[in-house]
Amino acid sequence: MTGVLRVAVVGAGPAGVYATEALLRYADDVLVDVLDGLPAPYGLVRYGVAPDHPRTQSIADALGAVLSRPGARFLGNVHIGADLTPEELRAHYDAVLVATGAAADRRMEVPGEDLPGCISATELVAWYNGHPDVAPARFRLDAETVVVVGAGNVAGDVARMLARTPDELRATDVPERVLATFAASAVRDVHLVARRGPVQARFTTGELRELGELGGADVLVDPADLELDELSREQLVTSPAARRNLEVLQGWAGRPPADRARRVHLHFHLAPVAVLGDAAVTGVRFERTRVEPDGSPAGTGKTLDIDAQLAVRAVGYRSLPLPGLPFDTVAGVVPNEEGRVVGEGGAVTGWYVAGWAKRGPSGVIGTNKHDARETVRTLLADLPALPAAAEPDPAAIDALLARRGVQVVDWAGWCAVDAAERAAGAAQGRTRAKVADRAELLRLASHR
Ligand code: NAP
Repeated sequence: MTGVLRVAVVGAGPAGVYATEALLRYADDVLVDVLDGLPAPYGLVRYGVAPDHPRTQSIADALGAVLSRPGARFLGNVHIGADLTPEELRAHYDAVLVATGAAADRRMEVPGEDLPGCISATELVAWYNGHPDVAPARFRLDAETVVVVGAGNVAGDVARMLARTPDELRATDVPERVLATFAASAVRDVHLVARRGPVQARFTTGELRELGELGGADVLVDPADLELDELSREQLVTSPAARRNLEVLQGWAGRPPADRARRVHLHFHLAPVAVLGDAAVTGVRFERTRVEPDGSPAGTGKTLDIDAQLAVRAVGYRSLPLPGLPFDTVAGVVPNEEGRVVGEGGAVTGWYVAGWAKRGPSGVIGTNKHDARETVRTLLADLPALPAAAEPDPAAIDALLARRGVQVVDWAGWCAVDAAERAAGAAQGRTRAKVADRAELLRLASHR
């Protein structure tokens, strides 16, 4: 291969941008195009991180510094499948690195899950983060009691956001309409329900602790829920993280409520068995569990109903297949060897994968840095054997997208959106007010 290396990175979230950074650092002469179906970059940093976590959100600044380098181009609002086929991608780039994350949610697989009022955390998180696919008017928050199923950080984020006071949310970047909905929220009780015990919960301690620091909500734990079985006691010995979580929970279990307007109730050993209601959710039925020696939850036959008008499942994300690429539907990942995509017939020439699409939805944002570097090392090692792109000139892909009428949002276009959001925020005394509407994002981007 001679001349400039051309790589397409599909997905402008952390994994895609960290891969771009690694390519710019380790390849001699490279021009990376970072494509994303959304008109805005940063993936879950923009659309997944909770709005009341501004420090984590500020990772976007570091990602932006990579995307604005001379060796990188951002091509937003380009959909693989609809706007470009996988074959066309390969024709224009020497290699394609897929970093599409895990955009879909897992289901509880219980009866009643599709009743109005039973929603996925993915959708709720997308809503309060101004994702263009979820209209700001989508939710009303007129439920007084909410059940959140799951014991991971997403469940924690959702419970915390629902329990925040309007004052606490006023400084965030949520779209104006979403802010108004939170201000009018009827929510009083949020039940955060784990199907296994406190030792098996997936919260990170910092995030768990935040539930006890809410300005307008008490956190309530039944001491009986914290009694440990033998397996949990064994697991505690080898897991400092679980010990820290348990200490936090024990602190709450002994604490009298301060009669705040809202309450977050934590429950353990309850697995969802049905979402209740005829026309809409009226509650969730749980079966009490014990943890089996292999760590899995087993039903005891005893059930408990928690009344609620909104049920949110926060039971994990799942990746979606990309057209034309192999996909492991059981593991929910693109099958790969150190980032090199492999199908039934072996390596799929020129295709690579990084981030959650490669290893599943786990770890913190920084985990993707190491992961992306591994993929880039594999890609660069394969380079001598890769057939070169037929049309590597950047003007060729630009012309193809223009012929198709795709309004590509480039870096300057995104900067125009960014400036408009900051200006709208400043007018309301906050750092940013997100624009959720896709047409409005495209309009702002065209005023570059
Ligand atoms: P997660 O950490 O894997 O947690 C999923 C939770 O859902 C687990 O408690 C799991 O219980 C439970 N679950 C799965 N299937 C269930 C079912 N059928 N019924 C009841 N419960 C079920 O996933 P996540 O919360 O979606 O987070 C994804 C990743 O993003 C994690 O690595 C997380 O740390 C990260 N993240 C980090 C932050 C942060 O740092 N602030 C914020 C958001 C997300 P079992 O353990 O029993 O399977």
